[in-house]
Amino acid sequence: MTTDSDTIFGKIIRGEAPAEKVFEDDDLIAIRDINPLAKVHLLVIPKTFIRDISQANESHKELLGKMMLVGAQLARDEGIENGGYRLTFNCGDDAGLLVPHLHLHVIGGQKLGAPA
Ligand code: AMP
Repeated sequence: MTTDSDTIFGKIIRGEAPAEKVFEDDDLIAIRDINPLAKVHLLVIPKTFIRDISQANESHKELLGKMMLVGAQLARDEGIENGGYRLTFNCGDDAGLLVPHLHLHVIGGQKLGAPA
């Protein structure tokens, strides 16, 4: 599958930029965040381009569900399921969205602060 995303995530998906991939299939990749906020910080990224969750629609329902389930599976694989973890979508400036290509943060492996 191709993406028209000209973000860093588009480049990673197309193999034009490096990343530490922890999962890949036809629909998604998951990588380690380059600037981790906790001991485990992964990003689950759809190969198809959706700017952010506000741009998702009914046609993306299955993909969004898959992102969540893959995030939960990766948390299990990383051994952080029992301790607990957070799945987060940032949307817009107030949430600190940096990369305008949809991605789900999987954050855990230590006690997390309250979400702002
Ligand atoms: P957000 O604020 O939700 O847009 O988060 C974007 C995330 O992407 C941040 O946590 C960044 O550290 C991460 N990031 C940016 N560039 C890269 C990269 N080349 N490889 C891995 N993670 C990245």
